Formats: sequence, structure tokens, C-alpha cells
Amino acid sequence: MFNSQYISSFALHFRKIVIICYPYPLKKDIRALSLEELKTVFIENGDKAFRAKQVYEWLWKKSVRTFDEMTNLSKSTRELLNTHFVINAVAVDDMQVSSDRTIKNAFRLYDSNIVEGVLIPSTTRMTACISSQVGCSLTCKFCATGRLERLRNLNADEIYDQVVLIKNQAEQKYNIPLTNIVYMGMGEPLLNYKNVLDSVEKITSPEGLNMSPQRITISTAGVSKMIKKLGDDGVKFNLALSLHAANDEKRNHIMPINESNSLEALAEALKYFYEKTGTRVTYEYIAFKDFNDSIEDARDLAKFCKHIPCKVNIIEYNPIDNGEFQQTTTARLDAFAKYLESKNIIVNVRRSRGKDIDAACGQLANKNKEGFEKRKMKITQ
Ligand code: SF4
Repeated sequence: MFNSQYISSFALHFRKIVIICYPYPLKKDIRALSLEELKTVFIENGDKAFRAKQVYEWLWKKSVRTFDEMTNLSKSTRELLNTHFVINAVAVDDMQVSSDRTIKNAFRLYDSNIVEGVLIPSTTRMTACISSQVGCSLTCKFCATGRLERLRNLNADEIYDQVVLIKNQAEQKYNIPLTNIVYMGMGEPLLNYKNVLDSVEKITSPEGLNMSPQRITISTAGVSKMIKKLGDDGVKFNLALSLHAANDEKRNHIMPINESNSLEALAEALKYFYEKTGTRVTYEYIAFKDFNDSIEDARDLAKFCKHIPCKVNIIEYNPIDNGEFQQTTTARLDAFAKYLESKNIIVNVRRSRGKDIDAACGQLANKNKEGFEKRKMKITQ
């Protein structure tokens, strides 16, 4: 929330009556303010409320990076904004292009932390895969990000900026508009609930990117309490559950979160979510060789699929450095998918994209870890 003492001090300064020295931190990230809060700033300064709308539009719809680009504001207003606020814009720090045209970005945040985001082009879609946290606390065994400590949540504007930067890449490099957004990068989105939902609100708002919520998928490792909250909040976007095993013993082994969010608890939360939203859930299932790729595993999955209307995405595994698992064979993958189809389950088999640049599912931060550790040391020193 915007500090009211700050607003009135800012108001006085704005009228050029009194200049007050503030304790650190002096400047606030302007995008942490809602439109209403921005209006309050301008009204308390004897200015018109519509000024806030102009600034808001520059910040979100036009995604400018400096106040000086807000050309319909007077010079003195821009100077005052410069004095009291900052725009903590995300920047592309590094970019790699795969032979299959997938683009992996290392995004630099205002505090020098790095997160990764990927543009995945296909014949029918341009998908942005974005991060919601710096690192992750859930330690899934097959995931490179899970080896990185969670340092902090991303703010809504930092999530939004990733989408804007990837959208620009889609348009500038491939001349095709962005069609889909998946929250499947670094971090567990439902453990950064408010900022993730705020970012969706901006992405879907006419004052932001005006994209349909049906083009957005939030993927969770399975935080049952928050899945129910999504139902209570009546969200309109799609939900994906990273399932990867439909047997508690196996799921406990690869996803420690299952110990406190068992398959039974997840099924109950998903039923609740479906009752509230009517939205079919997608189950993501990475097939690991000789671990979860047998017909018996497919049988467990088919049983889990009975709880609510759903579809299954079977994903080819992308091995990570010193990982425990291997990619399954095409024959086993096909037999697994065929079994599910025989039970009338909608199945998509997803082949990997961007493997040569470590941009594929589960690989984010694999090769970035050394740099991440260095930055972490710098920040915590
Ligand atoms: S799979 Fe997702 S939830 Fe699990 S460790 Fe990786 S980023 Fe975190």
C-alpha cells in the first residue's frame, strides 16, 4: 500500500511549498501503485485525476521505461515523478536462440537477480513461458530450478515485463503476435499468489495487454489450499497441474510437496476448483524411463483423471546435469499415450523444444546456476 504520509509529503513538494527529506528508501516503484492510488497522488497535489490515467497508460499499455518518454506530461510533472518514483523495469541480460527458433532469455531484475523466460514458436502458436519467483522452494527432483534456493517472489510488474519483452521478440523476430502465456518458468506461481493474479489482471486488462484469460495457463506443482482459492476467486484463466505420477509413493519421491498435498487432497481441491469455475484442468506428465512410464502407471493416471474433466499433456523428459532420471523410449511413450486414449482421455504428447540451449521444460537455470550462486552471495553479503 502507498504510504499516506508519503502521499501528503509528495503533495506538498508538488505544490513547491515544502521539501521534506525522507529516510531511505526515497523512491518508490511507481508500478506498485494502483490507478486509484495514483489518482490520490495527483488529486492531493491539486492536479486532475485524469493525469493518473495518462501515467498509468504509459506505464502499462505502452510499457515505457522512463518518465521522460511520457510526452503528454508537462516537464515539471515528469521531473517530479523522476524525483519521487522509479520504474523498476526488467531488461534482457542475455538471449539464446535454439535451432528450432525457441528463444531463451535471462532477464535482469532491478536488484540484479536473474530469472529466465522463453519464447516457444510453433506452427500454430507463439507461447511465452515466464517465471514467477527467483529460484524455487519446492525441490522437485527432475527440475534444474528446484536446485536453486528461492530468493524472492517476483512483483506483478516484473512478471508483466517478461511477457512484454517476449511479446516484442515474437513480433520483431518472427513477425507473429504472441498468442499464449504459460506460468511454467522458474518458481511456483501459487506461492506468489497475489502478485501472479495481479500480473494476470494487467495482462488481460484493456489498460494493459488486453489478452484473453483463456490464453493464459498457470501451472502448479499442487498447492491444494491455493487451488481452492483460485476456485473461490472465480479465475478465468486455465490451470495446469504438474502431476508426473498418480501414485503417492512415486510422487513423494520426485515432488516433496506431495507429502503435504497428497493426491487425495489434490483431487478434492481440483473438484472444488472445477465446481466453482467449470474449467477443465490440464495434467502435465513427464515420462521418466522405467519410473512412471509403464502401463500400470498409465492405469493410475487414468484413475486420477476420473475426478474431473481434464486433459493430459505427456512431456518428453529433458535430462539435467547429474540428474537421476532418463528420457523414456518412443515406444513406451506411445504405448502409455495409447492406453490413456483407450480410456477416452484427451492426450497430447509434447516433444521438447529448445533443448540445445537448455530452455526446455525443467531445464531453466541449469547452466545459469553458477552465475546465480555468485549473485546470491553478492546480495546476501
Ligand atoms: S518443477 Fe516447478 S515447482 Fe518444481 S522445483 Fe521446478 S520450478 Fe519449482
